[in-house]
Amino acid sequence: MSQVDKPVAVDEPAGAAGKVNLLGLSPAKLEAFFASLGEKRFRAQQVSKWIHQQGVDRFEDMTNIAKPLRAKLAEVAEIRPPELVQQYDSADGTRKWLIRVSGGSCVETVFIPDKGRGTLCVSSQVGCSLDCSFCATGKQGFQRDLTTAEIVGQLWLAAKSFGSLGPDGERVVSNVVLMGMGEPLLNFDNVVDAVNLMMDDNAYGLSKRRVTLSTSGVVPMLDELGKHTDVSLAVSLHAPNDALRDELVPINRKYPIAMLLASVKRYLDGLPDKHRRVTIEYTLIDGVNDRPEHAQQLVDLLRDVPSKINLIPFNPFSASQYRRVSNNSLYRFRDILLQAGYTATIRTTRGDDIDAACGQLAGVVNDRTRRSERHRRRSTGALEPVRFVQGETE
Ligand code: SF4
Repeated sequence: MSQVDKPVAVDEPAGAAGKVNLLGLSPAKLEAFFASLGEKRFRAQQVSKWIHQQGVDRFEDMTNIAKPLRAKLAEVAEIRPPELVQQYDSADGTRKWLIRVSGGSCVETVFIPDKGRGTLCVSSQVGCSLDCSFCATGKQGFQRDLTTAEIVGQLWLAAKSFGSLGPDGERVVSNVVLMGMGEPLLNFDNVVDAVNLMMDDNAYGLSKRRVTLSTSGVVPMLDELGKHTDVSLAVSLHAPNDALRDELVPINRKYPIAMLLASVKRYLDGLPDKHRRVTIEYTLIDGVNDRPEHAQQLVDLLRDVPSKINLIPFNPFSASQYRRVSNNSLYRFRDILLQAGYTATIRTTRGDDIDAACGQLAGVVNDRTRRSERHRRRSTGALEPVRFVQGETE
């Protein structure tokens, strides 16, 4: 064993005892950490398997690591997942966890079982700064980015709660989507490390088709993404024209639809597998974006973009005046897309009884933007109401 006293500096913030949290180190950073201890690369792989595949959080349990190295690791490092505060179980099998991160705020993580697969919806930030008008998270304001350990830790906790982490045997969590609280591309470095860990064979070994990053359209970072990972991509579009999207997804004012879709195409073109498609997420809101002409605009818009479309009926929450789309409008919208040759699915609402449905995640955010206060004052009449879009826009 090496006599190197201090490990290399890594980006993952050290814990209270000044120890490096190995849970959040990407494969390359974990190797660099072991190299700084004078250890060979395979040690990083061994320890990665213990952490991510066996769910071990104590070095003393890593029985194929020599005792002196285990002791050294215990001195300089730790495996510290975020704290599980509460688990909620829905009647439909959906499970939601409230997870406390350092600083005291909480984020939410949701597991949705479905035929032959289980999808974990993971948060990337505490709150969100983008304030999409239909989103409960956006109403809470923003506190901070999650660390890589706090992002991967959600998968670690969820998989461990089902007793299945590694690529061997049957997994309960087979898919991960970064669609929880936050805009992943605004927490770029930590998110990239997290998704690459999720796809690493010495960690969770999920295929790139089963890990999906969902963005509302931070174009410069989307252009950067392909240089660092080949994760699957979803885009929160929600409107087929700029006038409407400016209202629903305010970042559109900075990066309009044409700019966003051009960036999506560049990302897909850069992937080695030429059959990959982007998932277009479209939340349907009654009387806002659910008309046949909106569906037709969407058909025209996506003609050159390899895509599949996921229609999400809006899930009402207390701080919103929007209403859920009617079934008639929902199926009419979908049928227009199907008739135009698109793959279009309807996301069934899951976990409604535990506020785990899409767009309902709120957590407990120590809001630094004061937005939650503004929304509270609006809902009590102390401020002018938020302007809601109704009817035609073009
Ligand atoms: S929809 Fe996504 S990007 Fe928009 S406010 Fe909600 S969490 Fe943020």
